Amino acid sequence: MKIVLASNNQGKLRELQDMLAPLGLELVRQGELGIPEAEEPFRTFVENALAKARHAASLSGLPALADDAGLCVDAFGGLPGVDTAFYATQFGYAKSDDNNVRALLEQMQAIDNRRAAMVSTLVAVRSADDPEPLIAVGRVTGEIARERRGTNGFGFDPVMFIPEFGKTFAELPTDVKNANSHRGRAARQMVELIRQNWL
Ligand code: IMP
Repeated sequence: MKIVLASNNQGKLRELQDMLAPLGLELVRQGELGIPEAEEPFRTFVENALAKARHAASLSGLPALADDAGLCVDAFGGLPGVDTAFYATQFGYAKSDDNNVRALLEQMQAIDNRRAAMVSTLVAVRSADDPEPLIAVGRVTGEIARERRGTNGFGFDPVMFIPEFGKTFAELPTDVKNANSHRGRAARQMVELIRQNWL
């Protein structure tokens, strides 16, 4: 079976390919099929992930899997949430991972409650009209570090400090991040859901 990965984020794609390898499926990146990014107009991760998966399934005619992820900071009432990818643009910076981290460190400079969660919601559909999408959610809590540490991973990994390891995600080897991350947790559930329902 072929599945389209409905993302153009290289960091996410690398992780998802490793995580879904146990299924033995042929994974195709939507970019390879010339499929552009979908709109993400909704206020919840699950609605946006579903929109991305349906968009990729509709344009490819294949089953599709999408991830909508984000950072939920306690001191900001759970924001930026679904707006995480565009976080830096609220403060006049261009959209980029590097600017997102810069803006977050600036906005949290005077904040002592550093608790935050990274959330990943995976949605898989067999077709654009699938009435029974498969949905898996993974969450990991940590603390926003006061400065960047480490060079692995992507996005907020250099400031996502995981107390049980005493390191940021960017300081952990890829296999350790993947085994313990929000996306890793969601992907393990999704592998089981696909096995039970589709194979
Ligand atoms: P989206 O899911 O493509 O909307 O992106 C969500 C935002 O969260 C982007 O800014 C990503 O860089 C960031 N992000 C997603 N997954 C991770 C992760 O595993 N570590 C750090 N940042 C992430």
